[in-house]
Amino acid sequence: MGEKQRIAVIGAGLTGLTVARALAETASVAVIEKSRGLGGRMATRRAEPFAFDHGTQYFSAKSPAFETFLAPYIAAGTVKPWAPKSVILPQDAGDAPVWASPRYVAAPSMTALAKALASDLDVTRGWQVETLHREQAGWLLINREGQQLGPFDWVVSTAPLPQTAALLPTSFAGGSAFSQARMQGCYSLMLGFADPLPLAWEAAWVREGPLAWIAVDSSKPGRGGPQAIVAQTSNDWAEANLERPQEEVRDELRDAFATATGQDPSGAAYISLHRWRYANVPVPADAPFLIDQESGLAAAGDWCGAGKVEAAFESATALAAALMPSLQGARVLTP
Ligand SMILES: Cc1cc2nc3c(=O)[nH]c(=O)nc-3n(C[C@H](O)[C@H](O)[C@H](O)COP(=O)(O)OP(=O)(O)OC[C@H]3O[C@@H](n4cnc5c(N)ncnc54)[C@H](O)[C@@H]3O)c2cc1C
Repeated sequence: MGEKQRIAVIGAGLTGLTVARALAETASVAVIEKSRGLGGRMATRRAEPFAFDHGTQYFSAKSPAFETFLAPYIAAGTVKPWAPKSVILPQDAGDAPVWASPRYVAAPSMTALAKALASDLDVTRGWQVETLHREQAGWLLINREGQQLGPFDWVVSTAPLPQTAALLPTSFAGGSAFSQARMQGCYSLMLGFADPLPLAWEAAWVREGPLAWIAVDSSKPGRGGPQAIVAQTSNDWAEANLERPQEEVRDELRDAFATATGQDPSGAAYISLHRWRYANVPVPADAPFLIDQESGLAAAGDWCGAGKVEAAFESATALAAALMPSLQGARVLTP
C-alpha cells in the first residue's frame, strides 16, 4: 500500500473539523485555522467574569445522521439540550414558537464541541491562508508572511463562501456556485450585568426594530456565572448597517435592547459589539459541496445548505464520503 494522501483542510469550524475527522484514518489530514480559537462561528467571547456565545445561539439535529454524530458528545455532557423559557417581543406579537425537535448548545460554552472534535487532530492555529500555489508535488499554502505549508494532494476550503471564493483559483471547476450563493451579516451585542436585569424569560424573538433575537446566555446549561446577554440583529438590518461606525451601532443596539425588553441596560458592567460579515445564508450553493478532482480542490460549508450548524455537518459528511474513494485509490464522484 502506498503512502497516505495529504489533505489540507482550511478552517476549524464544524465543517472543517467534521471533514478532518471523517478522513483522518484514511489520509494524512492537517487542519489550518486563522484564529487562535476553534469553532469558527460556533464562538464564545470570554470577558471575565462573563462568557457570551456571540455567534451560533443553539443548533438543531433533525437528521438521524447528525443525532448519531452528536450522541457521544451528548453522553459526555459536551452537548446539552436547551429548552429556554421563550417569549416574543413585543409581548402582544404572538406566542413563541414551539420547537418540535430538540435544540442543543455545547457546554460549558459553544466552542466546547469544536475543542472535543479537534482533540486528536493535527490543527495549526493562528495561521491564515493567503494564497494557494500549485507545484509538481502538490498544493502549497502560503500565509501573509510568506511562510508555506505543504505540499498537499488535496486542499479543502471550509471558509465562508466569499473567503473560499477568494482563495480558490478562478479555474476551480465548482466556481460557478460562488456567484449564485449569498451570505448575510449579523451584529451581536454583548451585555454583562453584575446586578442581573429582572427578565422573566431566557430567550426572546424580537419582531420590531433592528434586533431579532435575545438570549440570556448565562442561563444556558453548563454555564452559570453573572448574567450574560447576547442580542442579535436581523440579517437585513446588519447588511444595511455593516459599514457604519461601530460605536454608533453599539449605542443604537443598546437602545433597541431597552425598547424591546423594557429594561435599562445602562448599568451593564460589560458591553461590546461583534460584527459578523458572514453569518447566514439566504441563497445557498446548488450543490452539497464543491469539488474539482482534476486539480485536487474542494469546498464545503453551511453555505452549501441552510446556513446552520446542521447544514455545515451535512456538507462536510457529503464531501468526506465523496473524497473517500479517491483517497483509497478510486475516482471521486462529483455531486
Ligand atoms: C451571529 C450568528 C448566529 C448564528 N446562529 C445560529 C443558530 O442559532 N443556529 C445554527 O444552527 N447556526 C447559527 N449560525 C450559523 C452557524 O454558526 C454556522 O452555520 C456554522 O457554524 C458554520 O460552520 P462552518 O464550519 O461551515 O463555518 P465557520 O464556523 O465560519 O468556520 C470556518 C473557519 O474557517 C476559518 N478561516 C476562514 N478563512 C481562513 C483562512 N484564509 N485561513 C485559515 N482559516 C480560515 C475561520 O476562522 C473559521 O474558523 C449563526 C452564525 C452567526 C454568525
